[in-house]
Amino acid sequence: MRIDILTLFPEMCRSVFTESIIGRAITKGILQINAINIRDYTLDKHNRVDDTPYGGGTGMLMQAQPIYDCYQALCKELGTRPHLVYMSPQGKVLTQQKAIELSKLPNLCILCGHYEGVDERVLEEIVDEEISIGDYVLTGGELPALVLADCIARMIDGVLANEDAYTFESHYNSLLEYPQYTKPAVWNGREVPSVLLSGHHANIDKWRREESLKRTYYRRPELLTKADLSEKEKKYLSELALSVKEET
Ligand code: SAM
Repeated sequence: MRIDILTLFPEMCRSVFTESIIGRAITKGILQINAINIRDYTLDKHNRVDDTPYGGGTGMLMQAQPIYDCYQALCKELGTRPHLVYMSPQGKVLTQQKAIELSKLPNLCILCGHYEGVDERVLEEIVDEEISIGDYVLTGGELPALVLADCIARMIDGVLANEDAYTFESHYNSLLEYPQYTKPAVWNGREVPSVLLSGHHANIDKWRREESLKRTYYRRPELLTKADLSEKEKKYLSELALSVKEET
C-alpha cells in the first residue's frame, strides 16, 4: 500500500515514520508513506499558500490552487486517482472499522489542513471523505493524518508479527482487550492471575474472553451492541448485569 500525505509540514510527518514498527516496515518495502509539500506547488511568486478569509474573521485559510495542483501531480505520477481523505474536525470520527476499510486500498492520499482550514471549493472538487480523530480542534491536520496512517499501516500484511497482533486488540471486534501481564509473576505484592500461569490454553482463552466482555461492559457498554457474541456470551453478560444490579 502507498500512502501520500499532502501537507505544509512534511518534516513533521517524516520524523514519525522513520521510527519503530512503521519505520522498519517502510525500510523493508512492505508499505510506502510519502509526505508531499503543498508549498512546492504554489504559483505565487512569494511562495504563499494561504490568504485571509472572504467576509472577514481571524486567521488565514489555505488556498485552493496549491492543493489542487499538488493532488493533480500525484494523480499523474500514480497513473490513477487515489482515494482522498481530508483530516477535519468536521468529518466522521475515525473508527477501527473505517481504518480496516481504508487499509484495503492500494493508494490513499491524506490532506492536512492548517491555520483556519482550507478553501471549501477545493474540498468540494477533490475530497472523497472527511475524517476527524475526535471532537476537539488541533492546529493542523498533520497529527490526525499520522494517527490515521499509523492505524492503517499496522494492519497491512507483514507490518506486525501476524494478524493476531491486531485482530485480538481493542476495538477490532467491538470489544476492549483483556488485561495483560508480563514478568515478574509478583510485582509490588500484586500477583498475575493464576490461570495465566497454568499453561492450560483452553482455560486461558476462556478467561481472556470473559475479561474482555467484562471490561467492555464496565468501560464502553455501547460497543457491545456491535460485537459478534455467542448465545453463551450473551448469557454471561446478562448474568453480569444482574449481579451488578443486585450489588447496587
Ligand atoms: N476552522 C476549522 C473548524 O472550525 O472546523 C478548524 C481548523 S483547524 C484549526 C486546522 C486544521 O487542523 C484543519 O483544517 C484540519 O486539517 C486539522 N484538524 C484539527 N482538528 C482536527 C481533528 N479533530 N481531526 C482531524 N483534523 C483536525
